[in-house]
Amino acid sequence: MKNKKPNILLIYTGGTIGMVKDAKTGALKAFNFKNLLTRIPEIQLLDCDIDTVSFESPIDSSNMNPEYWVQMVEIIESNYDAFDGFVVLHGSDTMSYSASALSFMLENLAKPVIFTGSQLPIGDLRTDAKENLITSIQLASLYEKEQPIIKEVCLYFEYKLYRGNRTTKLNAEHFQAFASMNYPELAESGVHLKINKEHLFNPNSQEPLKIHKTFDNNIALIKLYPGISEALIQTIFSTPNLKGVIIETYGAGNATTQSWFIDILKEQISKGIHIINVTQCSGGGVIMGHYETSSALKQIGVISGKDITTEAALAKLMYLLGVNTRNGNTFKTMYETPLRGEIS
Ligand code: ASP
Repeated sequence: MKNKKPNILLIYTGGTIGMVKDAKTGALKAFNFKNLLTRIPEIQLLDCDIDTVSFESPIDSSNMNPEYWVQMVEIIESNYDAFDGFVVLHGSDTMSYSASALSFMLENLAKPVIFTGSQLPIGDLRTDAKENLITSIQLASLYEKEQPIIKEVCLYFEYKLYRGNRTTKLNAEHFQAFASMNYPELAESGVHLKINKEHLFNPNSQEPLKIHKTFDNNIALIKLYPGISEALIQTIFSTPNLKGVIIETYGAGNATTQSWFIDILKEQISKGIHIINVTQCSGGGVIMGHYETSSALKQIGVISGKDITTEAALAKLMYLLGVNTRNGNTFKTMYETPLRGEIS
């Protein structure tokens, strides 16, 4: 970018930010994006050029799936050279899943991709959409020595910029809907924009952008709870074509030591099914072997999700299965290695 205003592409996928109330039912539904920007005249004052593109049929993000992730990435792919940064408007419900997925899909990303949305529609008097949108655009426009400052997939909400694959939606009521419990904020918006440069993803790679579009969703997510039955676990593991399972365990990665449970996992691992241990806690991570109740998991070859979020764990599993890392040990090593800053 030389001596010109940065240009930002706004990608509208759907979500509350652009929704209107159905006159009959009163329920919020996605509507066409065209009117959205006219509701924020302040956007004209920003020191950048803005172009927009919208999903043909915007969605409530509860309908999100890997095909939509590919749609988003293809928009970025075909506009990558023409724009300096990307802001993705997305419903908050599954925003952390999508931000995680895109972080894996966009290898060697050298430009900002910032997800944002809002808890109230942009037309609402008390909306949080304006600040979220305006600051996201400003963050995506930040340049230094002709280089973008942010070169990763982020999520901006309620005055805070986070690494996307570190976030979780924690609150359906507060404007501060997201948290990044295991990684510091990348930036904070106050009177000034404070960028925490030391926390930005900066792998120093000069490699060109490499895009991955294949996700394998032959996976399952099991949340342990006291009283979970052998029959349920067996049923999940007998799902046809299953390739990987994430188990949300207790605390630092602990699970029941009942022999039926360990035996099932052992048998599945021997069949080549990848099993990943992720904690149910919002903060902290898995340390297998720390308690007796996780030692057996370690011994039988369960993969440690360390301090990954469940959202990033799912996206990473589908992504790594998609890039076809079939060898069990390589898969384990890759899973336990931070690829886009998703684990510490
Ligand atoms: N249900 C909405 C969605 O995720 C909520 C939001 O936009 O924040 O699309």
